[in-house]
Amino acid sequence: MDIKIIDVTVHVIKSELDVPFAFSQGWVNKRSATIVEVKTNEGVVGWGEAFCQGLEPPEISAAVIENALKPILLEQSPLDIEVLWHNMYNLTRDFGRKGSVISAISAIDIALWDIAGKYYNQPIHQLLGGAFRKKIKPYATGFYRLKGKGEANRLAEEALSHFENGFDHMKIKLGFGIDDDLKCMETIRNALKNKNVTLMIDTNHAYGRSEALILGKNLEDFRLRWYEEPVVPEDIKGYAELRSKLDIPVAGGENEHTLYGFKSLFENNAIDIAQPDIGSCGGITGAKHIINLAHSFGVEVNPHVWGSAIAQAASIQVIASIPVTHFSVFAREPILEYDQSSHPFRRELLSTPFELENGMLNIPNGKGLGIEVNLETIKKYKTN
Ligand code: MG
Repeated sequence: MDIKIIDVTVHVIKSELDVPFAFSQGWVNKRSATIVEVKTNEGVVGWGEAFCQGLEPPEISAAVIENALKPILLEQSPLDIEVLWHNMYNLTRDFGRKGSVISAISAIDIALWDIAGKYYNQPIHQLLGGAFRKKIKPYATGFYRLKGKGEANRLAEEALSHFENGFDHMKIKLGFGIDDDLKCMETIRNALKNKNVTLMIDTNHAYGRSEALILGKNLEDFRLRWYEEPVVPEDIKGYAELRSKLDIPVAGGENEHTLYGFKSLFENNAIDIAQPDIGSCGGITGAKHIINLAHSFGVEVNPHVWGSAIAQAASIQVIASIPVTHFSVFAREPILEYDQSSHPFRRELLSTPFELENGMLNIPNGKGLGIEVNLETIKKYKTN
């Protein structure tokens, strides 16, 4: 009997935060995730996750999976990953193409790759063509606000604690007003003086072109690795304008979807670094499409990840398989976003949580995603 999909279960999990925090788009009060479990007649189970940013209701992609995708998937071979990706995309085109519909497809796609890895007894990166690297450097994402403004000193202390925890790359959340942003950056730089730390900034598209340019101009001597989401994702010409006027690499793409969305960013010379989120860009298959397309435009790919441990595991497998864009002996390698904000669905969700070793993360070699999901954690936080 051939392997086939017999059930698709969605777990909407939520946990209230003890201390709410802000990024430029609002206050995050709880952590949420849309987790999917795809079951087969051979007992092989795959796990996937739809990206659910702090302000997004996880029920949207859950409803897409239940109502639109599950009927497409039942009785199909989970190994027909590319075929199923196109079926899911084509049959949701008229109401999908972006946002939570593509996140739902992404969750299923990750689960199908997990099944394929378990079926063929290989880690996903092996099925993708092998690992270009055995370890990945994680970078600390953090620097969220607890009040909103006037927190420069606390953020500088946070930078020092990330450094003490082994991070030499950090991404700072900005977008709380230019003056406050600059004050935070100066204070952080002073705190890290004489330490070899590379910074990135992320405004989550808080500004229009003129303010985004002023912020960037004032930070040109920070030698930032990148300036993330300087303007709204729709303003592709704005991206291109900033890229031409700033001596800072411009990054974006966590709110863009599929190769079709990234195509217009590349064609318009909008970004130096593409940041697809595996849980919303179209899954591992979607990322594969985007990576190849980016490569043809000479654009670096450095995935975004903010989800649970399942999204992190998918991101790690993809990062292992990304070729460097500009080859040299000391070529710049992709780094792993390693969010430091409070999140119970990371360590608690895995039987063996990820651990850093000398500031690096070893790429798991277990089959599929290389993780074991803790079912008790799913049960504890499940809301649907
Ligand atoms: Mg971001």
